[in-house]
Amino acid sequence: MAENNECTHDCSSCGADCPSRGGEAIQKEKLNPRASVKHVVGVVSGKGGVGKSIVTSMLAVEMNRRGKTVAVLDADITGPSIPKAFGAKRGVEAVDDVMIPHYTKTGIQLMSVNLLLEDEASPVVWRGPVIAGAVKQFWTDVVWQDVDYMFVDMPPGTGDVPLTVFQSLPLDGIIIVTTPQELVSMIVEKAVNMAKLMNIPIVGLVENMSYAVCPDCGKRLNIFGESKAQKAAEQYGIPLLAQIPLDGKLASLVDSGEVEQMENDYISPAADAVEGVE
Ligand code: ADP
Repeated sequence: MAENNECTHDCSSCGADCPSRGGEAIQKEKLNPRASVKHVVGVVSGKGGVGKSIVTSMLAVEMNRRGKTVAVLDADITGPSIPKAFGAKRGVEAVDDVMIPHYTKTGIQLMSVNLLLEDEASPVVWRGPVIAGAVKQFWTDVVWQDVDYMFVDMPPGTGDVPLTVFQSLPLDGIIIVTTPQELVSMIVEKAVNMAKLMNIPIVGLVENMSYAVCPDCGKRLNIFGESKAQKAAEQYGIPLLAQIPLDGKLASLVDSGEVEQMENDYISPAADAVEGVE
């Protein structure tokens, strides 16, 4: 159904499961019978490079510190950054047609295409349906072990691939990651509308690279001007969960695969909201 609830009969640009789809609605994939996952939260962004993976990683670390069993499904197949952030190398085990996820140093379960590739630097040049198929397999063929919260690093954007992933995984909620520049465009609005069309609850908005802190005087510098995040969140009717500064220390931890050693609490309010996801 189109945004104004009028069906345009163009199912390729719409995710609603309505009669006009003529029975070709995409089915939610079934979790592997040997796996157990209680809550699934997607982390999305209107475009790449805004910090979706960093936010996914921080959420996973924070929830793990809170004593939850946590997993990350890296569905950003063409730009997989999750293994790097956790210092995880190739070596996922396949046993009897199922895959055992990688366990990080602190016990977070990971699955990413980069853990399967011979050479992690080789580009994934697959077409949309193959990408979507790989994500589905990460859901159906991986033995996720007693997971309380799974975070899905979603493919960026609002095109065909994210749409299929949205439809095939049973997401309980999504977190939208944005930057100050993105907020002034229509991109975030598109992501909000996509989630609403799919009837997936939006947990809230995280503004990344929101500001910087002067290393000398500790003053908050609004590099991109006064933040518009609160206003945008109100406009979309969703909570603003966190504002994360540009932080060189955080970037170097992520670059060196040590995100589990982060010392900030930027993501804490977003983790509180995730704990409320049914
Ligand atoms: P996305 O998943 O949206 O493509 P990433 O999370 O991979 O984006 O982030 C892109 C790059 O920007 C990474 O190198 C990351 O370390 C850096 N980065 C993201 N957020 C911050 C931040 N708040 N402070 C410093 N560097 C950041």
